[in-house]
Amino acid sequence: MRILVTGGAGFIGSHLVDRLMEAGHEVLCLDNFYTGTKRNIVKWLNHPYFELIRHDITEPIRVEVDQIYHLACPASPIHYQYNPVKTIKTNVIGTLYMLGLAKRIGARFLLASTSEVYGDPEVHPQPEEYRGNVNPIGPRSCYDEGKRVAETLAFDYHLQNGVEIRVARIFNTYGSRMLENDGRVVSNFVVQALKGEPLTVYGKGSQTRSFCYVSDLVEGLIRLMNNEHTGPINLGNPDEYTILQLAQAVQQMVNPDTEIIFKDLPKDDPQRRRPDITKAKTLLGWQPTIPLQEGLKTTIADFRDRLTAEGDSLVSR
Ligand code: NAD
Ligand code: UDP
Repeated sequence: MRILVTGGAGFIGSHLVDRLMEAGHEVLCLDNFYTGTKRNIVKWLNHPYFELIRHDITEPIRVEVDQIYHLACPASPIHYQYNPVKTIKTNVIGTLYMLGLAKRIGARFLLASTSEVYGDPEVHPQPEEYRGNVNPIGPRSCYDEGKRVAETLAFDYHLQNGVEIRVARIFNTYGSRMLENDGRVVSNFVVQALKGEPLTVYGKGSQTRSFCYVSDLVEGLIRLMNNEHTGPINLGNPDEYTILQLAQAVQQMVNPDTEIIFKDLPKDDPQRRRPDITKAKTLLGWQPTIPLQEGLKTTIADFRDRLTAEGDSLVSR
């Protein structure tokens, strides 16, 4: 098949590109390199079945493909809050153009939505039926509301124009190739611990998240795309940890002498988050297989290699 991956040079996108290329598909990787990097897909650059398109999805584009995985959108709070209006344009105008493309060429379209559509949830764990508790005018709104509109657009193109859609609600995902400076909690803690800096826990660290390793997530995306269910379907790891527990796990694995310090909790930071993955289990036969300790080990090794290559002096255990 010919497959378009928007945001294909990013963290999740590049792992997805790897899986699709390894399966023998022809892959078009589209990215504006805002948070993605060529380094993530460099190994495919000379492959005859791979094409890299530098393009911003807030502008229209025409290509011929069978499937579209639509991932283009900055995902970390630092990057999506840097230019909130651009984040909304990417989610709304960009998704509109991609759905218009899917309609014209008859491609199946998968939207990478997010657990952020549930906002700061009052229902725990979060099932797909829960409609969320989102602040429409807070610092996270450009992303949360942007993704909510993206979901609405996908369903309206489906209902109005018969576009085949799939909607994945992705929960916190981590793994190799996360950006060193993207401010997400796993990358922050791992980089801080490796550099011998204190781990910055926001608030008391009692807020929870559920962390899914990237290879598990990519398997879920591929199953959803090639299954008959439109979704939305939660994809995430239901093992829930407090942020303090995560800090302590990284501390133990990298350097037990690392200090843990506490900083202000950002506004509208969700207090609890854990996916109900009953639908993914029953409809897709999918569930995560990589426990946190194992995924962290791989992530730590990847950051160690990259930081060493960049000449950083790291703490050795
Ligand atoms: P990422 O920032 O690494 O990847 C996003 C990619 O999209 C980058 O390569 C970036 O350069 C590209 N991009 C951004 N705006 C663009 C634009 N206007 N035009 C073209 N390309 C653009 O983030 P990620 O973690 O790989 O996330 C990928 C997708 O998954 C995003 O849609 C995100 O919302 C979703 N998601 C991720 C997580 C997570 O925990 N990582 C959780 C929920 C949802
Ligand atoms: N967090 C933290 N220290 C950091 C970065 C993040 O304590 O250095 C917290 C953050 O406040 C949130 C959780 O970790 O409660 C997850 O943050 P992230 O930005 O990774 O994802 P999101 O909040 O979008 O789920």
